[in-house]
Amino acid sequence: MATFGNPALVLNADFQPLSYYPLSLWSWQDTIKAVFLNRVSIIENYNKEVHSPSLTIKLPSVIALKDYVSPRRSPAFTRFNVFLRDNFTCQYCYENFSANELTFDHLLPKFTGGKTTWTNVVSACTSCNVKKGRRLLKYTDMYLKKKPMRPSSEKLQKNGRNFPPNYLHESWRDYLYWDTELEN
Ligand SMILES: [Zn+2]
Repeated sequence: MATFGNPALVLNADFQPLSYYPLSLWSWQDTIKAVFLNRVSIIENYNKEVHSPSLTIKLPSVIALKDYVSPRRSPAFTRFNVFLRDNFTCQYCYENFSANELTFDHLLPKFTGGKTTWTNVVSACTSCNVKKGRRLLKYTDMYLKKKPMRPSSEKLQKNGRNFPPNYLHESWRDYLYWDTELEN
């Protein structure tokens, strides 16, 4: 029996995914544990089964939490969330990048007391970051795509819908709504 793969898509009690990006997935082991603890309802199953000496159970492919989890009112300030707020777009050249190609640019540079906060940090590709250097924006010919703000959880969840993962099990599709078109 494969011990890898067959993750379950985790929905909140309102049947919305707990998170779009990264997509909320639990390993089948964690999923089975939660089923036995009565914390989740099984919505869809894989054809694959697991056996113990006393029972056989189909691996769940979609589960829903029995208790609704409220989204955090203010999302955590993390690199990933800053990039997600900016839609993984460099705020100076407006191109899209992956997380490991993006950097933090401080609008008010750190050496002049600029803080690493939602409103002072934007996503920038390496070459734009180097180009801007330690200057204030007004001394460059670069323009910000968007003034940085603290995002709401709803905003981040909405942005996450722009980034469907490469792999989607067919049983998940009815519970996910992507803003971009999916290839077949
Ligand atoms: Zn750039």
